[in-house]
Amino acid sequence: MQPPALAWEQVTKLYGDTAAVADVSLAVDGGSFVALVGTSGSGKSTLLKMANRLVEPTRGRVLLGGEDVTRGPAPAVRRRIGYVFQNIGLFPHLTVAENVAIGPRISGQPVPDVAQLLDLLELPRDVAPRMPAELSGGQRQRVGIARALAPGAKLLLLDEAFGALDPVTRDALGQRLRALHDELGLTTILVTHDMAEALLLATRVVVMKAGRVVADETPAALLAGGGGDAAQALVAVPRDQAARLAAVR
Ligand code: ADP
Ligand code: MG
Repeated sequence: MQPPALAWEQVTKLYGDTAAVADVSLAVDGGSFVALVGTSGSGKSTLLKMANRLVEPTRGRVLLGGEDVTRGPAPAVRRRIGYVFQNIGLFPHLTVAENVAIGPRISGQPVPDVAQLLDLLELPRDVAPRMPAELSGGQRQRVGIARALAPGAKLLLLDEAFGALDPVTRDALGQRLRALHDELGLTTILVTHDMAEALLLATRVVVMKAGRVVADETPAALLAGGGGDAAQALVAVPRDQAARLAAVR
């Protein structure tokens, strides 16, 4: 049997007396699309950062493809994980093409096919020689995802990656991400505070509250009322909005 693509085993991260993450055990199978939701401060970012060793757990361990991430050097782990943040941090003085290829270049890996990566993200190829400042926010975010995938990473972690985008761009990029996930056979974890986005894109929705996982359900189960109070409070937001929209005359 294949080990999970990524697993947290009884992981706790303390900052002083505060448990940012409290005894979380979570296994993510290869090929799944997990949405990680929860209010601000619930521990989502800390959980993700422990996967690529930006943060070290106080207790417990994180397994990547069945192997403890602390066993090898951190850069080797990071090459296997594509990581996308909200403030994507493209290098402003490098072209789009140089930004996309930066990871493999730094680590001495073969230069990726930038044109192909731009195609995957549905970016016109003529953005390749441009500087990041000459792109729209949505285009920059697409470049960030292309860069995350450039080392050939099959595991993609996105931390509020669409946060700064307008709703139309956000929706289009979410759908592109889901298609890309299916086409490339990725394992994707998308951190979002938008339950509608989670329900529409993911195959599994994990809800965090105060450092703990409080629900772990399929979108269908959540929409049918499962997952408990914290999860249902989040599901209520888009549902109430839809009902109010339907009532507008
Ligand atoms: P989320 O991403 O869900 O908003 P975080 O993982 O960023 O939540 O934070 C979880 C909790 O841990 C919060 O209470 C936050 O203030 C705290 N925290 C996160 N990072 C640090 C840090 N470097 N030092 C101290 N406290 C932190
Ligand atoms: Mg966060």
